Amino acid sequence: MDSEGVGKPLSVAFTADIDPDANRARAGRVDAVSAGAREAGFDACFRGLRLLLDLLEENSLPATLFWEGRTLEQLARRQADLLARVRQSESLEHGCHGYRHEDFAGQVSGIPLGRARTRAVLARAGEVLGSALGAAPVGFRAPYCRLTPELTGALVEEGYAYDASVAREPSAAWGLRPYRLEGAPALWELALCRSKDRQGKAISGYLWQLFEGRRPVEDYVELVGSLRQECAGGLLQVALHPWHLVVSEDGRPAASDGTANPADRLRQFVERVLGIDGLAFTTAGAYLQEACRPEGQ
Ligand SMILES: [Zn+2]
Repeated sequence: MDSEGVGKPLSVAFTADIDPDANRARAGRVDAVSAGAREAGFDACFRGLRLLLDLLEENSLPATLFWEGRTLEQLARRQADLLARVRQSESLEHGCHGYRHEDFAGQVSGIPLGRARTRAVLARAGEVLGSALGAAPVGFRAPYCRLTPELTGALVEEGYAYDASVAREPSAAWGLRPYRLEGAPALWELALCRSKDRQGKAISGYLWQLFEGRRPVEDYVELVGSLRQECAGGLLQVALHPWHLVVSEDGRPAASDGTANPADRLRQFVERVLGIDGLAFTTAGAYLQEACRPEGQ
């Protein structure tokens, strides 16, 4: 166990990437394509967002929302009441998730974005977030969780406090704590957790496999419990996409049956996790402020 964390809780932040669907990068395209109709994707995203906000509010849980600029523009155009609800909430923190789910690294598109284009995308997304939400984003999660040196540089230039894109396995050297990114001393990394279950199979803080019915709630409850023991003082980001509460990764309507329904699965997970001692529920940004405060203040 990380001795720095003795006596401290494990902080847990619910984080949501707000985009329309299981975006797929395509060769030759900087932005993402959808498995189904994009219109249906926005609809699923906004229906899922309402379910997510209901659940968070019922349980007095804060959350960090990483907005894709394009999706936020659609929300403002189509569902003013939902945008107003988001804006008025004092328990939500807002971050950025690109403008059109750009494949910044060019890993699939074959078109890596250079410094100027990366900066232009972030500037545009930042403007959309600022005008729709009334505040500039302080945190960033890269589309596909692919962080590039150009992105890191642009995040510093745009005044971001942290990035939350890198996935790491906790170890003796890293107990889910913030760290500085190489080449960007002004930017903190709040890395996502990837780990192994008891059978040695990969599991992460993303609830993707839970919603696709490939893992039971119990697996994620166990993950939280074991990190509570090993990474006290650190931050576990539980990550999800609102659309995943109503449609599957290939755009089909989610199971409506109680035990297989994704929104019900999330509800069960929340109820179970709320019963674990030694957890502190927070936003990523609030955790960072607390963790980086000099001793005694
Ligand atoms: Zn995304």
